[in-house]
Amino acid sequence: NSYEKGLQKSRRSFTRRLNELFANFRYEDEEFFEELEDLLIESDVGFEATMYISETLRHESKVQNVKSMADAERVIVQTMVDLYGDTNPDHHIFNDNPNGLTVVLFVGVNGVGKTTTIAKMAHQYIDQGKKVVLAAGDTFRAGAIEQLHVWGDRVGAQVVSTKQGGDPAAVVYDGIVQAREHQADVLLIDTAGRLQNKKNLMNELEKMKRVISREIPDAPHETLLVLDATTGQNALNQAKIFKETTDVTGIVLTKMDGTAKGGIVLAIGKELNIPVKFVGLGETMNDLHPFDTEKFAYGLFK
Ligand code: GDP
Repeated sequence: NSYEKGLQKSRRSFTRRLNELFANFRYEDEEFFEELEDLLIESDVGFEATMYISETLRHESKVQNVKSMADAERVIVQTMVDLYGDTNPDHHIFNDNPNGLTVVLFVGVNGVGKTTTIAKMAHQYIDQGKKVVLAAGDTFRAGAIEQLHVWGDRVGAQVVSTKQGGDPAAVVYDGIVQAREHQADVLLIDTAGRLQNKKNLMNELEKMKRVISREIPDAPHETLLVLDATTGQNALNQAKIFKETTDVTGIVLTKMDGTAKGGIVLAIGKELNIPVKFVGLGETMNDLHPFDTEKFAYGLFK
């Protein structure tokens, strides 16, 4: 299926190198572990997660639990799953509002795939028979409003917007009003992601959130940070800044189909403790998938 296909590139390069490495597997060989660490770090697994995986494998081979490539594979996958699962016990859960309008705020810098992700999610909800309204809260970037309208038409969602340079909080308010009027199930809100001015970004997001929670007390139900997996450690840095700026409840990692560096998933889990809830595996509206750690970890070996 497309999930499998999308991950093929992540897999191929990592797997090929891993297989080469394991072809000369010497358990007592310090060089082996150093090469494994290099490979994991280059795949953007992150320093902490890499050391944890490597130390676990070292220990397991010392106590003779690892005697073959298959054993090593099992230990690495289990360690990845434990590592990610431990820090994020309920990382699969998406907080839909069971009692009415679900409000999801999308944050992230330009070009990461925010608009596309909003369209993909809208498509999924519409596919389930739900009514979706999109709010064009990125009033800053030229073309952002128009782009959301194009996607809205394509997936069949109503789009609420103002002119470029308009007040994003006003768009959010209009979005809620429209969603109520049309008895929509879901409101997806686009925002501008200007990291150049953290204070402005923070104020803008806070103002939007104030408008939302004034109208719907427990909303936004999710604040999803969209990150581009192909940017590796840059994505990790963006995540750090957004985490300081606003309450991020989950991450959408886009362009996982175009990278051999998918390990960033584990780095985010380990170093930031923010759950990756979805991955983007392509440019069409069908290419958004819930993230599954075990599937991901096993996928690396296929
Ligand atoms: P925004 O500026 O964050 O709203 O980014 P866009 O949604 O406009 O996306 C930027 C580019 O990335 C577009 O060309 C998208 O088609 C592409 N893109 C978005 N998500 C994915 C993905 O999961 N995989 C691939 N290959 N491309 C993607």
